[in-house]
Amino acid sequence: MAAIDGLPPLRDVIATHGLSARKALGQNFILDLNLTARIARSAGKLAQSDILEVGPGPGGLTRGLLAEGARKVVAVEKDARCLPALAEVAAHYPGRLEVIEGDALTVDLSGRLAPPVRVVANLPYNVGTELLIRWLTPPEWPPFWTSLTLMFQREVAQRITAQAGDDAYGRLAILAQWRATPRVVLELPPDAFVPPPKVSSSVVHLDALPEPRFPARLKTLERVTAAAFGQRRKMLRASLRGLAPDIEAHLGAVGIPPTERAERVSLEAFCALARSLDAND
Ligand code: SAM
Repeated sequence: MAAIDGLPPLRDVIATHGLSARKALGQNFILDLNLTARIARSAGKLAQSDILEVGPGPGGLTRGLLAEGARKVVAVEKDARCLPALAEVAAHYPGRLEVIEGDALTVDLSGRLAPPVRVVANLPYNVGTELLIRWLTPPEWPPFWTSLTLMFQREVAQRITAQAGDDAYGRLAILAQWRATPRVVLELPPDAFVPPPKVSSSVVHLDALPEPRFPARLKTLERVTAAAFGQRRKMLRASLRGLAPDIEAHLGAVGIPPTERAERVSLEAFCALARSLDAND
Protein backbone atom coordinates (compact mmCIF):
# COMPACT_ATOMS: atom_id res chain seq x y z
CA MET A 1 0.00 0.00 0.00
CA ALA A 2 1.26 3.50 -0.82
CA ALA A 3 2.03 6.03 1.93
CA ILE A 4 0.18 9.34 2.36
CA ASP A 5 2.28 11.00 -0.35
CA GLY A 6 1.59 8.24 -2.92
CA LEU A 7 5.14 6.84 -2.72
CA PRO A 8 5.94 3.46 -1.13
CA PRO A 9 6.28 3.30 2.68
CA LEU A 10 9.86 3.87 3.85
CA ARG A 11 10.20 0.31 5.15
CA ASP A 12 9.55 -0.94 1.60
CA VAL A 13 11.95 1.63 0.13
CA ILE A 14 14.68 0.43 2.49
CA ALA A 15 13.98 -3.23 1.68
CA THR A 16 13.77 -2.66 -2.11
CA HIS A 17 17.04 -0.72 -2.27
CA GLY A 18 18.92 -2.72 0.39
CA LEU A 19 19.53 0.32 2.61
CA SER A 20 20.59 -1.44 5.81
CA ALA A 21 21.73 1.30 8.20
CA ARG A 22 25.51 1.81 8.38
CA LYS A 23 26.92 2.86 11.72
CA ALA A 24 30.00 4.49 10.16
CA LEU A 25 27.71 6.98 8.36
CA GLY A 26 25.65 7.66 11.50
CA GLN A 27 22.57 6.19 9.86
CA ASN A 28 19.52 6.25 12.14
CA PHE A 29 16.52 6.63 9.87
CA ILE A 30 13.12 8.11 10.66
CA LEU A 31 10.46 6.00 8.96
CA ASP A 32 7.31 7.69 10.28
CA LEU A 33 6.19 10.17 7.60
CA ASN A 34 3.91 11.97 10.07
CA LEU A 35 6.98 12.69 12.15
CA THR A 36 9.10 13.82 9.19
CA ALA A 37 6.23 16.13 8.15
CA ARG A 38 6.24 17.62 11.66
CA ILE A 39 9.98 18.24 11.49
CA ALA A 40 9.52 19.79 8.05
CA ARG A 41 6.82 22.15 9.37
CA SER A 42 9.08 23.23 12.24
CA ALA A 43 11.52 24.63 9.63
CA GLY A 44 9.21 27.59 8.92
CA LYS A 45 7.62 28.86 5.73
CA LEU A 46 8.55 26.21 3.19
CA ALA A 47 6.51 27.34 0.21
CA GLN A 48 8.59 30.48 -0.31
CA SER A 49 11.96 28.85 0.50
CA ASP A 50 14.69 26.78 -1.07
CA ILE A 51 15.77 24.02 1.31
CA LEU A 52 19.24 22.60 1.72
CA GLU A 53 18.82 19.14 3.18
CA VAL A 54 21.95 17.39 4.38
CA GLY A 55 21.91 13.61 4.68
CA PRO A 56 18.52 12.68 3.14
CA GLY A 57 19.23 8.92 3.41
CA PRO A 58 16.20 6.95 2.17
CA GLY A 59 14.27 10.23 1.88
CA GLY A 60 11.84 10.37 4.82
CA LEU A 61 12.53 13.99 5.75
CA THR A 62 12.92 14.92 2.07
CA ARG A 63 9.41 13.61 1.42
CA GLY A 64 8.13 15.54 4.44
CA LEU A 65 9.66 18.76 3.10
CA LEU A 66 8.24 18.29 -0.39
CA ALA A 67 4.79 17.18 0.80
CA GLU A 68 4.66 20.24 3.07
CA GLY A 69 5.25 22.48 0.05
CA ALA A 70 8.96 23.35 -0.10
CA ARG A 71 9.63 25.41 -3.25
CA LYS A 72 12.79 23.40 -4.00
CA VAL A 73 14.98 20.94 -2.07
CA VAL A 74 18.69 20.46 -2.74
CA ALA A 75 19.76 17.31 -0.89
CA VAL A 76 23.38 16.29 -0.31
CA GLU A 77 23.95 12.60 0.50
CA LYS A 78 27.25 10.82 0.99
CA ASP A 79 25.92 7.26 0.65
CA ALA A 80 25.51 6.39 -3.04
CA ARG A 81 23.24 3.45 -2.10
CA CYS A 82 20.49 6.01 -1.33
CA LEU A 83 20.51 7.65 -4.76
CA PRO A 84 18.01 5.35 -6.55
CA ALA A 85 15.48 5.78 -3.72
CA LEU A 86 15.95 9.56 -3.87
CA ALA A 87 15.57 9.50 -7.67
CA GLU A 88 12.08 8.02 -7.16
CA VAL A 89 11.20 10.92 -4.86
CA ALA A 90 12.56 13.40 -7.43
CA ALA A 91 10.40 11.82 -10.15
CA HIS A 92 7.33 12.12 -7.93
CA TYR A 93 7.93 15.87 -7.42
CA PRO A 94 9.13 17.01 -10.89
CA GLY A 95 11.60 19.88 -10.85
CA ARG A 96 11.56 20.31 -7.08
CA LEU A 97 14.27 17.92 -5.83
CA GLU A 98 17.93 18.03 -6.81
CA VAL A 99 20.08 15.30 -5.27
CA ILE A 100 23.84 15.73 -5.02
CA GLU A 101 26.04 12.78 -4.15
CA GLY A 102 28.76 14.21 -1.94
CA ASP A 103 30.11 15.08 1.46
CA ALA A 104 28.34 18.02 3.07
CA LEU A 105 31.65 19.11 4.58
CA THR A 106 33.27 19.67 1.17
CA VAL A 107 30.46 20.04 -1.41
CA ASP A 108 30.25 23.24 -3.46
CA LEU A 109 26.68 24.52 -3.58
CA SER A 110 27.27 27.85 -5.28
CA GLY A 111 24.46 28.86 -7.61
CA ARG A 112 22.13 26.03 -6.62
CA LEU A 113 19.98 27.75 -4.00
CA ALA A 114 17.98 30.98 -4.18
CA PRO A 115 17.15 32.98 -1.05
CA PRO A 116 15.53 32.61 1.35
CA VAL A 117 17.39 29.36 2.07
CA ARG A 118 16.43 27.13 4.99
CA VAL A 119 18.74 24.33 6.05
CA VAL A 120 17.18 21.13 7.39
CA ALA A 121 19.14 18.07 8.45
CA ASN A 122 19.08 14.89 10.47
CA LEU A 123 22.81 14.26 10.55
CA PRO A 124 25.33 12.21 12.46
CA TYR A 125 26.17 14.08 15.65
CA ASN A 126 29.79 14.98 14.85
CA VAL A 127 29.03 16.19 11.31
CA GLY A 128 26.05 18.21 12.57
CA THR A 129 28.08 20.06 15.19
CA GLU A 130 30.90 20.83 12.76
CA LEU A 131 28.46 22.14 10.14
CA LEU A 132 26.58 24.20 12.72
CA ILE A 133 29.82 25.94 13.73
CA ARG A 134 30.70 26.58 10.08
CA TRP A 135 27.23 27.94 9.31
CA LEU A 136 27.53 30.28 12.31
CA THR A 137 31.01 31.54 11.38
CA PRO A 138 31.07 32.55 7.69
CA PRO A 139 33.38 35.42 6.70
CA GLU A 140 30.37 37.72 6.13
CA TRP A 141 27.16 38.15 8.12
CA PRO A 142 24.21 37.70 7.38
CA PRO A 143 24.90 34.16 6.10
CA PHE A 144 23.41 32.38 3.05
CA TRP A 145 20.73 30.79 5.28
CA THR A 146 17.64 32.24 6.94
CA SER A 147 17.14 29.36 9.35
CA LEU A 148 18.67 26.05 10.40
CA THR A 149 16.53 23.14 11.62
CA LEU A 150 18.83 20.41 12.84
CA MET A 151 18.62 17.14 14.74
CA PHE A 152 21.08 16.74 17.61
CA GLN A 153 21.64 14.49 20.58
CA ARG A 154 19.67 16.08 23.41
CA GLU A 155 22.90 16.93 25.25
CA VAL A 156 24.16 18.96 22.26
CA ALA A 157 20.80 20.73 21.91
CA GLN A 158 21.16 21.76 25.56
CA ARG A 159 24.64 23.14 24.85
CA ILE A 160 23.22 25.26 22.01
CA THR A 161 20.31 26.72 23.99
CA ALA A 162 21.88 26.96 27.49
CA GLN A 163 21.81 30.23 29.43
CA ALA A 164 24.52 31.65 31.72
CA GLY A 165 24.47 29.63 34.94
CA ASP A 166 23.42 26.37 33.25
CA ASP A 167 25.84 23.43 33.33
CA ALA A 168 25.67 23.15 29.53
CA TYR A 169 26.55 26.85 28.98
CA GLY A 170 29.71 27.33 26.92
CA ARG A 171 31.17 28.32 23.56
CA LEU A 172 28.41 26.72 21.49
CA ALA A 173 25.66 28.62 23.37
CA ILE A 174 27.57 31.90 23.03
CA LEU A 175 28.16 31.50 19.30
CA ALA A 176 24.65 30.26 18.50
CA GLN A 177 22.88 32.93 20.56
CA TRP A 178 25.16 35.72 19.39
CA ARG A 179 24.21 35.28 15.75
CA ALA A 180 20.89 33.43 15.89
CA THR A 181 17.88 32.66 18.04
CA PRO A 182 17.98 28.94 18.82
CA ARG A 183 15.14 26.96 20.37
CA VAL A 184 14.28 23.31 20.78
CA VAL A 185 11.18 22.58 18.71
CA LEU A 186 10.83 18.81 19.11
CA GLU A 187 12.12 16.11 21.46
CA LEU A 188 12.45 12.58 20.07
CA PRO A 189 12.94 9.34 22.00
CA PRO A 190 15.43 6.77 20.66
CA ASP A 191 12.62 4.60 19.27
CA ALA A 192 11.68 7.33 16.76
CA PHE A 193 14.68 6.04 14.74
CA VAL A 194 15.63 2.78 13.03
CA PRO A 195 17.93 1.54 14.45
CA PRO A 196 17.38 3.43 17.73
CA PRO A 197 20.43 5.41 18.92
CA LYS A 198 21.53 5.15 22.58
CA VAL A 199 20.33 8.62 23.56
CA SER A 200 17.34 10.93 23.01
CA SER A 201 17.42 13.56 20.28
CA SER A 202 16.16 17.12 19.92
CA VAL A 203 15.37 19.19 16.86
CA VAL A 204 16.84 22.68 17.24
CA HIS A 205 15.60 25.55 15.08
CA LEU A 206 17.83 28.61 14.71
CA ASP A 207 16.68 31.84 13.03
CA ALA A 208 19.59 33.93 11.79
CA LEU A 209 19.72 37.44 13.23
CA PRO A 210 20.20 40.20 10.63
CA GLU A 211 23.12 41.40 12.77
CA PRO A 212 24.83 39.75 15.73
CA ARG A 213 22.91 40.35 18.98
CA PHE A 214 25.71 42.55 20.41
CA PRO A 215 28.64 44.17 18.60
CA ALA A 216 31.96 42.28 18.77
CA ARG A 217 34.59 40.88 16.42
CA LEU A 218 34.09 37.15 15.87
CA LYS A 219 37.82 36.39 16.23
CA THR A 220 38.10 38.24 19.54
CA LEU A 221 34.89 36.75 20.94
CA GLU A 222 36.16 33.28 20.01
CA ARG A 223 39.55 33.94 21.64
CA VAL A 224 37.90 35.16 24.83
CA THR A 225 35.42 32.29 25.11
CA ALA A 226 38.04 29.66 24.18
CA ALA A 227 40.28 30.89 27.02
CA ALA A 228 37.40 31.37 29.48
CA PHE A 229 35.69 28.02 28.91
CA GLY A 230 38.97 26.13 28.29
CA GLN A 231 39.50 26.46 32.03
CA ARG A 232 35.90 26.91 33.09
CA ARG A 233 36.50 26.24 36.78
CA LYS A 234 39.13 28.97 37.09
CA MET A 235 38.39 32.59 37.91
CA LEU A 236 38.43 34.78 34.81
CA ARG A 237 41.39 36.84 35.98
CA ALA A 238 43.42 33.60 35.81
CA SER A 239 41.91 31.92 32.73
CA LEU A 240 42.07 35.14 30.65
CA ARG A 241 45.52 36.31 31.82
CA GLY A 242 47.11 35.29 28.52
CA LEU A 243 44.84 37.63 26.51
CA ALA A 244 46.07 40.93 28.00
CA PRO A 245 48.44 41.82 30.83
CA ASP A 246 45.83 44.25 32.20
CA ILE A 247 42.92 41.79 31.95
CA GLU A 248 41.61 42.79 35.39
CA ALA A 249 41.19 46.38 34.17
CA HIS A 250 39.24 45.19 31.14
CA LEU A 251 37.02 42.98 33.28
CA GLY A 252 36.41 45.86 35.68
CA ALA A 253 35.65 48.29 32.84
CA VAL A 254 32.81 46.08 31.58
CA GLY A 255 31.48 45.21 35.03
CA ILE A 256 32.64 41.58 35.28
CA PRO A 257 34.11 40.71 38.70
CA PRO A 258 37.66 39.32 38.09
CA THR A 259 36.80 36.46 40.46
CA GLU A 260 33.82 35.38 38.30
CA ARG A 261 33.81 32.06 36.41
CA ALA A 262 33.02 31.77 32.71
CA GLU A 263 29.80 29.81 33.14
CA ARG A 264 28.13 32.73 34.95
CA VAL A 265 29.00 35.49 32.45
CA SER A 266 26.28 36.58 30.02
CA LEU A 267 26.69 36.74 26.25
CA GLU A 268 26.31 40.53 26.45
CA ALA A 269 29.16 40.77 28.97
CA PHE A 270 31.45 38.53 26.87
CA CYS A 271 30.80 40.81 23.86
CA ALA A 272 31.56 43.90 25.95
CA LEU A 273 34.82 42.30 27.07
CA ALA A 274 35.76 41.46 23.47
CA ARG A 275 35.13 45.11 22.47
CA SER A 276 37.19 46.38 25.36
CA LEU A 277 40.14 44.17 24.36
CA ASP A 278 39.84 45.31 20.72
CA ALA A 279 39.74 48.98 21.72
CA ASN A 280 43.31 48.52 23.01
CA ASP A 281 44.71 47.01 19.79
N1 SAM B 1 17.44 12.17 6.73
C1 SAM B 1 17.28 10.73 6.94
C2 SAM B 1 16.25 10.48 8.00
O1 SAM B 1 15.92 11.44 8.71
O2 SAM B 1 15.80 9.35 8.12
C3 SAM B 1 18.62 10.06 7.28
C4 SAM B 1 19.23 10.48 8.57
S1 SAM B 1 20.70 9.62 9.05
C5 SAM B 1 20.78 10.08 10.77
C6 SAM B 1 22.07 10.61 8.46
C7 SAM B 1 22.27 10.64 6.96
O3 SAM B 1 23.37 11.50 6.68
C8 SAM B 1 22.63 9.29 6.36
O4 SAM B 1 21.87 9.07 5.19
C9 SAM B 1 24.13 9.41 6.02
O5 SAM B 1 24.51 8.62 4.93
C10 SAM B 1 24.23 10.89 5.72
N2 SAM B 1 25.58 11.47 5.93
C11 SAM B 1 26.47 11.16 6.89
N3 SAM B 1 27.56 11.94 6.80
C12 SAM B 1 27.34 12.76 5.75
C13 SAM B 1 28.11 13.79 5.13
N4 SAM B 1 29.31 14.13 5.59
N5 SAM B 1 27.59 14.43 4.06
C14 SAM B 1 26.36 14.10 3.58
N6 SAM B 1 25.60 13.13 4.12
C15 SAM B 1 26.08 12.47 5.19
